[in-house]
Amino acid sequence: MQKTAGIHHITAMVNDAGRNIDFYAGVLGLRLVKKTINFDRPEVYHLYFGNETGQPGTVITFFPWAKQLKGRIGTGQVGVTSYVIPKGSVQFWESRLQKFGVEFTSSIRFGEKYLKFNDPDGLQLELTERDEGSKNTWSFGGVQPEHAIKGFGGAVLFSAQPHKTTDVLENILGLDCIGQENEILRFKSTANVGNTIDIHLNPSVRGLMGAGTVHHIAWRTTDKEDLLKWSSLLQDKGFYPTEIRDRNYFNAVYFHEGGGILFEIATDQPGFAVDEPVAELGNKLMLPSWLESQREELEETLPQVEVRVLEGDR
Ligand code: ZN
Repeated sequence: MQKTAGIHHITAMVNDAGRNIDFYAGVLGLRLVKKTINFDRPEVYHLYFGNETGQPGTVITFFPWAKQLKGRIGTGQVGVTSYVIPKGSVQFWESRLQKFGVEFTSSIRFGEKYLKFNDPDGLQLELTERDEGSKNTWSFGGVQPEHAIKGFGGAVLFSAQPHKTTDVLENILGLDCIGQENEILRFKSTANVGNTIDIHLNPSVRGLMGAGTVHHIAWRTTDKEDLLKWSSLLQDKGFYPTEIRDRNYFNAVYFHEGGGILFEIATDQPGFAVDEPVAELGNKLMLPSWLESQREELEETLPQVEVRVLEGDR
């Protein structure tokens, strides 16, 4: 059976590109690994943040668009995005969040302590310590590799039909169910980051897509050949995957699972170094070849943004 290694990336919608960069790069210390545009709507940025090289399992991406209405987190969505930090770094993160005025709470799930907080657009995030996951070698502002976020711990899915989502995770994506605690069912995949998926069995309200909500979650596969196999498997099981879409840094198919969440399967190949060297990832606006002729207009339309060290770290 084909199995996904785990999360490839998570994509969310926000209102303000500058504020988004300040939070994910400035406060959380992630690297802006790609600054490009929404291939389907070139007047909107597509920003990617991850570890130093933007490995699958570490990358969160955003479509920042000022005019977008606020969404509501609820069923049919990824409710919470979890990040994994090195063992012994939770105190560093508590004081860092305090320093930047980010309110947080903590709770225990499956024996792990989670620091929970929202990003400036209201996306629900959490940090948890684990040994697994390679050290993130990226240093920025006040975040050094010894404390840096290693990648996703996982995600909490708010499914409208948990048994259907469970079926997809187990019987299509190949995750193992490893336990239940209260209203949370936990699944595990094989990668060392992005490998822990929780399904909330009783989420309250119906989700509304918009700013401050996750748009989709992508699962890893190796290359285009494997992606074709996933696509025919999905069709055999009665799903309606899209055609294979070329996202420049990966190829992808999308489908709605039975609990209403938009799933994507994305290839690890070719990755973010396909159009700029690793040392320069994220520095320049990158456009797919078919939009290169419109660079000047696009650069004028898009808001000016930059990665900067925030006041608290200066
Ligand atoms: Zn995606």
